[in-house]
Amino acid sequence: MNSPAPSRARISIIGAGPGGLTCARILQRHGMTVTVHDRDPGPDARDQGGTLDLHADNGQIALREAGLLDEFLALCRPEGQEMRRLDPAGRTTFHHIPEAGELFKPEIDRGRLRTLLLDSLQPHTVHWGRALQTVGGPADGPRLLHFADGTTLEADLVIGADGAFSRVRPAVSPAVPEYTGVSFLEAWFSDVDNRHPDIAELVGPGSAAAADGDRGLFAQRNGGDHIRVYIIRRVPADWISRSGLAADDTAGLRARLLDEYAQWSPRMRRMITDNDGPYVDRPLFALPVPHTWEHHPTVTLLGDAAHLMPPLGVGVNLAMLDASELALALANAATVDEAVRTYEKTMLPRSTETARMLDGAAEHLLSADDPDLGDDGTRP
Ligand SMILES: Cc1cc2nc3c(=O)[nH]c(=O)nc-3n(C[C@H](O)[C@H](O)[C@H](O)COP(=O)(O)OP(=O)(O)OC[C@H]3O[C@@H](n4cnc5c(N)ncnc54)[C@H](O)[C@@H]3O)c2cc1C
Repeated sequence: MNSPAPSRARISIIGAGPGGLTCARILQRHGMTVTVHDRDPGPDARDQGGTLDLHADNGQIALREAGLLDEFLALCRPEGQEMRRLDPAGRTTFHHIPEAGELFKPEIDRGRLRTLLLDSLQPHTVHWGRALQTVGGPADGPRLLHFADGTTLEADLVIGADGAFSRVRPAVSPAVPEYTGVSFLEAWFSDVDNRHPDIAELVGPGSAAAADGDRGLFAQRNGGDHIRVYIIRRVPADWISRSGLAADDTAGLRARLLDEYAQWSPRMRRMITDNDGPYVDRPLFALPVPHTWEHHPTVTLLGDAAHLMPPLGVGVNLAMLDASELALALANAATVDEAVRTYEKTMLPRSTETARMLDGAAEHLLSADDPDLGDDGTRP
């Protein structure tokens, strides 16, 4: 089959995360037709997660192409760029305070970013409750999307923006994410200035990290007087069931954590004991490095689906930059095939270089050394 012109192609994006929505928005700005399919039953079906820093040299570039940079800058929290390093006793060993007007990587809550992107799309662009199962059809198209609700859909281009455990990925690559050996346990603190003033003071308006070589904490102020703490440990992915505990056994998990953090000061331990509600278990996975694939004219990947890495502050930025570059390639190429080639020619080497830099870096989250807040844009 000859590859169609992008303006006449049926383009389906799987995944309404930051990558998929950015891609849809930029395609629509260039007059192209696109549908987005997400497995969530609706936009508010689940907690969208914590705060994200969007960098001037990638995430913000994508927002400019989406025509949303000014709105983002009005919503973001520049003060969230403040960064503290604490020791297990709660003493500050490093403190970065952003300069007035600094906007290199301001923070925004993930839910706010999603709403900003969703509100910018034409009505009925996103189809909720559409969990993709497989991509079928011949390699040169049209492809046949099979959804869990039993429906199917034909597409000339399938864009896999469906995150870590992508169902689109097997159409181009056999790679599967591997456990990094490091897990986050997420703890939430609400109305912090009134209810958790000690924690609010330790964390400040941005983030605070502490580690002793074997375990760590990474705390972030979110919007709405909310703090999220990631309790970071080197444990098997199924450590909860192996310990004879259940994910909702908050008291049991808390007792185990208190034991593990026994050498930390009582003030620091409040970040693992005083949380509101249950803990959320988040084992960290990454794709093997390098992750690349032979070009297919009808399927491509972006964001975590293409290059899942440990969460050191670049994932969403790369997802949005991929999305912007793919949409612009489609806007400028004569055929879908040509656009996908152009996009992958830049995206695959870029993501491989970053993935090499972050390969094994989940361990850095446990390092007691002071952070390198260097120009690689990664968080400590
Ligand atoms: C705890 C944690 C903290 C992080 N902090 C940061 C940070 O501070 N900065 C940063 O840059 N990155 C951070 N990251 C990484 C960042 O979250 C990801 O890199 C980013 O969300 C990737 O965006 P995406 O659009 O590719 O995928 P996702 O955000 O994962 O979106 C995928 C979408 O696809 C949908 N989906 C999944 N499967 C299917 C299916 N079969 N059918 C249909 N829809 C499907 C999902 O519902 C979802 O809406 C963090 C990650 C974690 C785990």
